[in-house]
Amino acid sequence: MLTRRQLLRVSAAGSVVATRAPHLLAAQYDLIIKGGRVLDPSQRVDRVADVAIRAGKIAAIQPNIPPYTAAEIIDASGKLVTPGLIDIHAHIADRELTPAHCLSTGVTSLVDAGSRGAENVDKLLKTAQNAPNRVRILLNISGRGLADGATELLDIEKANVPAARRAVERSRDWIVGIKARLSRSAAGEHDLEAVRRARQVADPLKIPIMVHVGDTASPLPEILALLRRGDIVTHMYAPAPHGMLDDNGRVLPQVLEARHRGILFDFGNGRTAHWTWDVAERAMQQGFLPDTISSDITGAGLTDQVLNLPNVMSKFLLLGMPVDQVIARVTSNAAQAIPEYKSYGTLRIGAAADVAVFELKEGNFEFADNYGNKRTGRRKLFPYAVVMGGKKVA
Ligand SMILES: [Zn+2]
Repeated sequence: MLTRRQLLRVSAAGSVVATRAPHLLAAQYDLIIKGGRVLDPSQRVDRVADVAIRAGKIAAIQPNIPPYTAAEIIDASGKLVTPGLIDIHAHIADRELTPAHCLSTGVTSLVDAGSRGAENVDKLLKTAQNAPNRVRILLNISGRGLADGATELLDIEKANVPAARRAVERSRDWIVGIKARLSRSAAGEHDLEAVRRARQVADPLKIPIMVHVGDTASPLPEILALLRRGDIVTHMYAPAPHGMLDDNGRVLPQVLEARHRGILFDFGNGRTAHWTWDVAERAMQQGFLPDTISSDITGAGLTDQVLNLPNVMSKFLLLGMPVDQVIARVTSNAAQAIPEYKSYGTLRIGAAADVAVFELKEGNFEFADNYGNKRTGRRKLFPYAVVMGGKKVA
């Protein structure tokens, strides 16, 4: 049998092959991901099917697309096929963690959440612009972001509103929101003032604010009162003091009310003081699930607790969340949380062909919260293949 390349050569010389097998001359599709369980919460798809890609876009989702119609095939039988993941809280400013590494774990779009501020964002902008996947930035309201040793708002005057606004205006295509880290260790007593300053930058530009909560000087309801529809609270399951639960473990009414007002709640795994199994479990038992599941991954997180976004997602399988709901929180929900990403996180026909393929393995897998508490899960997601803009990249 002739290879496709040989056929094309033959066809250049004459039309014999063309009349016999027109489909072989120019493959209808560039790539078909074959036979996987396709899970796309954006269109409520959950069935075994093939995903066909042409010219960097999703071209078809249907069962049994003939293999000869594709230039390349990924065999996904027994695997999960999902939209490429969107991680709305990661940190790629340190050299140990690259966007390319995140891409290899299925993350086709990510947001650096506040690693740098107005004074030192240029290098991060370059990293974003040169990344093989989609990278956007939340600008830290403090001038140098995390470069000052994660104490960036102890001196609140480092949060310079005009400077931050100018930095966003200069790079409006890349900087898509403002980050304010409000824990006592980062902001001392200035948590509310930090949000007010973030507001002054974000509101005229109509971009969202992400606040990092947990162990803040002010109670969470006072912080939530300063937030608006589309703003994001990350580290939602941070324990007391000033977490989302009252002394009896009930979700605070102001937290429920904030969700009602359109404020989004993000997981943000990270490594220190951001969540416990206990808070996550209690909140989830009361129906308070995350809108988005993010990693808060850093270089150190590559080998400690976080590992990668699929590992973080697997913790929610352990907590009892069905796999399709877990996928929704890193695809369709995450796309809605970041306005610039609203057309991603989907396998709709015509969408960018960003696709992740996972193996959902069964066994005994250990997972940790930020306080060294370990639990054993029975299922874990492992990246199997990644397609970005229609090209197989991992
Ligand atoms: Zn973070």
